[in-house]
Amino acid sequence: MKRADLVNLVKLIYADHHVSRMSLAEKTGLAPSYITTIVRDLQERGLLLEGGRAPSDGGRRRVLLSLNPELAHLVGVELGTANIRLVVTDFLGRVLAVKRFRSEIGQGKNHVLESIHSGIRSFLDRDPAIKGIGMSQSGVIDRGSGTVLFWPKVQGWTNVPLKSMFESRYGLPAVVEDSVRTMAMAERRFGRARGYSNFVYVNVGMGIGSAIYVNGQLCFGRNGLAGELGHTTIDENGDLCSCGNRGCLEVYASGWAIINRMRSGLQQGVTSTLAELWERHPEQLSVEAIVEAAKSRDRLSALVLSEAGTHLGTALAGIVNLLNPEKIILGGAVPQAAKGLLLRPLMAALNARAFQRSATGLEVEISRLGDEAGAVGASVLVAEKLLEDMV
Ligand SMILES: [Zn+2]
Repeated sequence: MKRADLVNLVKLIYADHHVSRMSLAEKTGLAPSYITTIVRDLQERGLLLEGGRAPSDGGRRRVLLSLNPELAHLVGVELGTANIRLVVTDFLGRVLAVKRFRSEIGQGKNHVLESIHSGIRSFLDRDPAIKGIGMSQSGVIDRGSGTVLFWPKVQGWTNVPLKSMFESRYGLPAVVEDSVRTMAMAERRFGRARGYSNFVYVNVGMGIGSAIYVNGQLCFGRNGLAGELGHTTIDENGDLCSCGNRGCLEVYASGWAIINRMRSGLQQGVTSTLAELWERHPEQLSVEAIVEAAKSRDRLSALVLSEAGTHLGTALAGIVNLLNPEKIILGGAVPQAAKGLLLRPLMAALNARAFQRSATGLEVEISRLGDEAGAVGASVLVAEKLLEDMV
């Protein structure tokens, strides 16, 4: 048995959840007798389980194989600007425990790190089956060393060696990845990208990021910086962005941009049902409040959301022409809240601007995964890493 064949086979079974020996032979081109030998070896080592049968295609119903979900439990952590979310999952990504607390990023680096450590520690104290830690956050990450080079949201969050920090403190393997990518990984494993090889996951929250899958592979780019959709230019002479450039998509279509545009309309005295809220509690002006107002036919709110959708559709038309994907999945707080109010103008702009042949049949959908998707994706990532060492 070649180790490369073993690793390849186990990864296929992990990706497909339940798979028959025959379909493994079809997918790998390896001889069925050789597959049977490998599978027997993996079963004897406790890595594989038999469970269920595929629907009959006329012949004998095929026995399905899956990885043993109890191979290990894993911790997934997502550090966001508002919340820290932690999950424990089994080896296949099924969530066993959840923890969430406010990030309190204003309190600085050490406070945030201590919150993360106390969450991880409380899981480890209760579950001795935990064998790895996956961490996700945004910012500039050196994936090889698992170091966050720069994250401007927290004072002092520069060159933070999270991977080596976790590994030395807990004696467990760790991985660190960009949170939009871990969400896309969760989407591919459990969500709307299941079974898709060419898709783009776009996250629209306070910022805008994306993760790109081409031929089943996630694109990282030379420095791991691929996918910065929010900082592609849609107006060369447009407003200044936090990145120092002008006219970035993020300035026109992010949650921050939506609130900002609403605020400037209200400041100019445009009639809106949100005028009173703006006057009394300006800090409560949120994307959710704007969506609710738009649903109640507030024209300014509807216009602001529609403009954001149009800008997103314009940017996505560029992606569609560039990559010709099968599917685009929209995740994050803005599409989750705005749904059709964002999607309709987005589709109109996309269909007007993308090549018709690329746009026809393209599926654009809003994610249905829950708020823990980023943390679950991080635990899936660490499971994949452990799998290579186990085989
Ligand atoms: Zn920018």
